[in-house]
Amino acid sequence: VPTANDSSTDCEAPPQSEELEDDNVAYFIKKKLHVWCRQPKGKWELGMIQSTSGEEASVSLSNGNVMQVARSDLLPANPDILEGIEDLIQLSYLNEPSVLHNLQYRYTQDMIYSKAGPILIALNPFKNVQVYGIDYVSAYRQKLTDSPHVYALADAAYNEMMRDEANQSIIISGESGAGKTETAKVAMQYLAAIGGGCSGIENEILQTNYILEAFGNAKTSRNDNSSRFGKLIEIHFSAMGKICGAKSRVVQLALGERSYHIFYQLCAGSSSDLKERLNLRAASEYKYLNQSDFTTIDGVDDAKKFNKLMKALDVIRMCKEDQELAFKMLAAILWLGNITFQDTDNENHIEVVNDEAVTNAAVLMGCRSQELMAALSTHKIQAGKDTITKTLTLRQAIDARDAIAKFIYASLFDWLVEQVNKSLQVGKRCTGRSISILDIYGFESFQNNSFEQFCINYANERLQQHFNRHLFKLEQEDYELDGIDWTKVDFEDNQVCLDLFEKKPLGLFSLLDEESNFPRATDLTLANKLKQHLHANPCFKGERGRAFGVCHYAGEVLYDTSGFLEKNRDPLPSDSIQLLSSCSCELLQLFSKMFNQTQKQSNSLHGGALDSQKQSVGTKFKGQLFKLMHQLENTTPHFIRCIKPNTKQLPGIYDQDLVLQQLKCCGVLEVVRISRAGYPTRMTHQEFSRRYGFLLFEANTSQDPLSISVAVLQQFNIPPEMYQVGFTKLYIRTGQIGALEDRRKYLL
Ligand code: ADP
Ligand code: MG
Repeated sequence: VPTANDSSTDCEAPPQSEELEDDNVAYFIKKKLHVWCRQPKGKWELGMIQSTSGEEASVSLSNGNVMQVARSDLLPANPDILEGIEDLIQLSYLNEPSVLHNLQYRYTQDMIYSKAGPILIALNPFKNVQVYGIDYVSAYRQKLTDSPHVYALADAAYNEMMRDEANQSIIISGESGAGKTETAKVAMQYLAAIGGGCSGIENEILQTNYILEAFGNAKTSRNDNSSRFGKLIEIHFSAMGKICGAKSRVVQLALGERSYHIFYQLCAGSSSDLKERLNLRAASEYKYLNQSDFTTIDGVDDAKKFNKLMKALDVIRMCKEDQELAFKMLAAILWLGNITFQDTDNENHIEVVNDEAVTNAAVLMGCRSQELMAALSTHKIQAGKDTITKTLTLRQAIDARDAIAKFIYASLFDWLVEQVNKSLQVGKRCTGRSISILDIYGFESFQNNSFEQFCINYANERLQQHFNRHLFKLEQEDYELDGIDWTKVDFEDNQVCLDLFEKKPLGLFSLLDEESNFPRATDLTLANKLKQHLHANPCFKGERGRAFGVCHYAGEVLYDTSGFLEKNRDPLPSDSIQLLSSCSCELLQLFSKMFNQTQKQSNSLHGGALDSQKQSVGTKFKGQLFKLMHQLENTTPHFIRCIKPNTKQLPGIYDQDLVLQQLKCCGVLEVVRISRAGYPTRMTHQEFSRRYGFLLFEANTSQDPLSISVAVLQQFNIPPEMYQVGFTKLYIRTGQIGALEDRRKYLL
C-alpha cells in the first residue's frame, strides 16, 4: 500500500502545506505536479500550473484548455500513486477537492466503503454491489482482505469484545436515505454469521428487523423505506463468542397516523378469511392511506411482504392469536381514520356520522358504537358532583379521533418491541458481553423545520458530542495525562448547544413544557418566551415572529414554532383513555393500563405538579435518548458515517456539493486531520510486553514491561518518530504494529 511518503522518490521533500504558497508553487511548476483548479461554477478540475504572475496563474487543464485563475482558486492535488486510496489518512493533501475526488474515484468503481482514520465512510450505491455474502464474510474473518467494509468494522468490534472483554457499539449515522438501516443490517448479518450457533437465535434476530421495519418504516420523499424510529439493538454473546440473545431499544418519534408499510401489506396480503374477520378493504379505501402521495412503491410487492412478515412473527414465536390481535388494531386504526363528522343544528357543534366506519371500528375495538361516538364528539367535565357533557367542535373531534389512532399505533409498536425482546431474551449462559448497533435518524435541515426536526437534531447533537468526546477529548486527555508531547488540536465542543436544549429551568425543553402546560399559550407566546430567556446563549438566534434559530454543530437551523405546543402535548383526552380501558379488546386494555402507569410515574417524578398532565413528547424523547446514550457510554464505539451521493436515489450519480456538505456536517475531515497527526494505536506497557515480549531474540534480563516493549520496537526497526513512550502506555502511529502482529500469528 503506497503511503504519503511514497509520493516523492526525490530527495527534495514535497511541500507539506495544504495551500499553494510562493515557494511550493515553484516546486509544482518544476515537477509538473497536478493542482486542483476551481471552475467558475465551483467544480474543481485537475490541471498543471504553467506560470504565475502576481496573484494570477496560468493553468493548463486536463482537457487541453489553458485558463487564467486567481492563485486562491488553486489547491495542491495528490500524486497519481495515491489515486483511490482506501484511507483518507494516507492522502498527502487533505483539501476538499482531494477528498471528494478520492471518494468519487472509488465510488465509480463500486468501492463504496472508505476509511477516514477510525471512521468507516459508506457511500450509498443505490444498487446491488457484489461485496456481501458468505464468501466475503469468510474472507474478512480470515483476514484475507482488509479493504474497508462494514464486515471489517464488525469483525474488529467482535475481536475487541472477545479480547478486552469489553462491550462494543457500532454507531451508524447519516441523513435520511444515506443507507444507515441497510448498513446496520449488513453488520448484523456479519455478526450473525460469525456468532451463529446451533440455537438459530441469530436468524430470529435478523427476522426482527423485518418486523420492526414493517411497523416502523414508511415511504417518504427522501427514502422509500424511511425508518421513523431510532433503534439500538444489543446483541449478546456467550464466553465462546456465540450469540445468545438480543434486546432492542427504540426511540419513537411522531409515530402517528403516517402510512407505515404494514398497513399496505395488511390490505394487500391478508387472506380472504382474515379480511372478513377484520372487515378489511383495499388500501385505497382508507383515508389514512389514500391521502398520501403513494399507495404503492415501485418494485415492492406488499402481499409478498405480508407473508414474510407473518413468517417472521412465527419465527419469534408470537402465537396466532396475538398476531391477529395486532392486525385487528391496525384495521381499527384504518376504520377510525374513515370516521367523519357533521354539523348539528347547534351552531359550531358536531356529531359523528353513524356509518360503517364507526360500526367497524367499534367492533374491532370491542366497544359499542354509541360509546365510540360519544368519546369522539363530547367531552365530560367534572363540576363538583356533577358531570357536564360538552360537545366538541369539528377541529377538536378530528384531533380526538387522530389522537386515539396515534395512541393505539404507538402502543402497538411498543408492545411489539416488547414481544420481540421477550422472544430473544438474553439467556443465563450469556456473559454480558455485547455489541450494540445504533441506527438513528440523521441531522435534518429543511426549508421548514418543525418539532420533529427539533427532536431529531437534538438527538444528533448528543451523538455528536459522544463522537467528539470519544475521538478528540479522550485522546487529548490521554496524551496529556501520560506525558506525551502533543500539540493541542482544538475541536469544537457542542456542550453550549446541548445546554441550550437541556438546561433546567431555562432550556428549550423546559420552557417548551412550561408553555405547554399553559392553556392559553400560543406558538407566538412560546417563541417570545424562548427569545426572552435564551437570547444569552450564543447558539440561540432570535428570529422574527414565531421562528427561532439554533446553531447546531452541522449548521444553523431555523425552527418554526407552529404546532410545537400541540405536538409536545400530544393530547389524549381522558375520555378517550376511559373508552379504551372499557373496551373488551385485551390489547386496548393493556395499552390504557400502560398509559396510566407511565402517567403515574411521571406525575410522581414531578411531585404531582403536572397532575393529570401526560408526560410531554419532548420530555419522553429526551428520557429515551438519555437511556440510550447511557447504554452507549459503557461501550467502545466504532463509527460508520453513511453518505448519500445524490438525492434522486439513483446509482452512478455523485453530487460533489451534496457529499461535501455531509462530510462537513459530521466532522469527518477534522477527524482525518487529527488521526493523521496522532498515535491511534495505544497499549499499556504491560499489555504490549505480554503480547509481543516473547518475540525478542534475546531474552531481556530486565522484567520491566517498559524496557521489554522498547526492546521489541527496536528489534523490529520501528522508527522512533512512529511511536512515543508514555508513563503508562505506548502510543503508536497507524500501520506500525502490523509486522509484530504477523510475526506473532506466525509463531503461535
Ligand atoms: P437510511 O436508513 O439512512 O434512511 P436506508 O438504509 O433505508 O437509509 O437506505 C435507503 C435505500 O438506499 C435502501 O432502501 C436501498 O435501496 C439503498 N441502499 C442503502 N445502502 C445500500 C447498500 N449497501 N447496497 C445497496 N443499496 C443500498
Ligand atoms: Mg433508516
